[in-house]
Amino acid sequence: MDTQLDFAPCGYFSISSKGIIQSVNQTLLNMLGYDRNGMLDRHIESFLSVTNKLFFHTYFYPFIQLYGQVSELYLSLKASSQLDVPVLLNGVRQERNGEIFIDCVVVEMRKRLEHEKDILQTKKRLEELYQATNEANKKLELLHQEYEIKQQELMNVNHQLETIALTDPLTGLKNRRFLQESLLTNIALFQRTQLSFSLLIFDIDHFKSINDTYGHPVGDLVLIKLAQLLKAEAREIDIVARYGGEEFILILPNTTQEDSSRIAERYRSKIEATPMGEYRITTSIGAATITQEDSDQTLLQKADQALYYSKANGRNRVTHAIALT
Ligand code: GH3
Ligand code: MG
Ligand code: MG
Repeated sequence: MDTQLDFAPCGYFSISSKGIIQSVNQTLLNMLGYDRNGMLDRHIESFLSVTNKLFFHTYFYPFIQLYGQVSELYLSLKASSQLDVPVLLNGVRQERNGEIFIDCVVVEMRKRLEHEKDILQTKKRLEELYQATNEANKKLELLHQEYEIKQQELMNVNHQLETIALTDPLTGLKNRRFLQESLLTNIALFQRTQLSFSLLIFDIDHFKSINDTYGHPVGDLVLIKLAQLLKAEAREIDIVARYGGEEFILILPNTTQEDSSRIAERYRSKIEATPMGEYRITTSIGAATITQEDSDQTLLQKADQALYYSKANGRNRVTHAIALT
């Protein structure tokens, strides 16, 4: 064998048609750890594991017979150390001097195998990471849902608190605070649009005597009944509030002075005619209509003075502030 083939950068061997090794180069001897005598004239199958022998019989020989060559056959050769050496084999059938030989080259596959192992490990690790990410995402989504529910609950509670803060607990009407805010809103609207609005203050006549005669709970019931009546009579856009004790205020948007006096009178007679449980009451009413000069304070004062006038002049009557100027 010439030196170039002997030390070629791949293993080389040649077998007879019966599988007996006829020649082998130094590179393959080094690869498997034999000296030349250890391989020459021996059967190729003594360098194969049982499974590889089977493979050789069912694939290698028939293929060579049929096509005259095999390529990229992947198998393991047994080294003198008994360790397997994975190789890639190409073989070709040749005829030399009337004799059949099968010439083969083998390239060691160890590096590629390790590389494949690396790739597999990386792939496995990626899959694990992917699954962990998936699980974390699912948890995150659940947490997000929980957070949204909690936030909605918080908003509901805030809304309830807001409602409570602006509601009179006894009658369920709007309270004084809401009324003050609403008054400012209506004044701002008036200044922008010049649409006038009016305000009515109701005060129950001789209410103290109901408490004194029948007790505080009866007084409370009367307040609740009156609140229901006011609410029932009011338009959707009117603000109905308990201003304090036995005083109530209505804000009547888009209502002139004449209309406010007429509306107040309607309320007065309705209250007089309506039994509050077993009791009857009357109310004195003061009305005022917004003017350019008015603030919330002056408007309330005017209505209050009108109310005072109604009280001073026999109660159960309506006075509009305009009558006092
Ligand atoms: P007037 O005709 O001058 O308005 O006489 P009045 O008795 O209604 O007036 P006064 O201001 O002297 O009395 C108001 C009464 O309203 C006194 C108070 O006990 C009663 N009152 C205030 N708030 C409540 C309440 O929440 N429940 C009950 N039952 N009574 C209340
Ligand atoms: Mg009063
Ligand atoms: Mg009163």
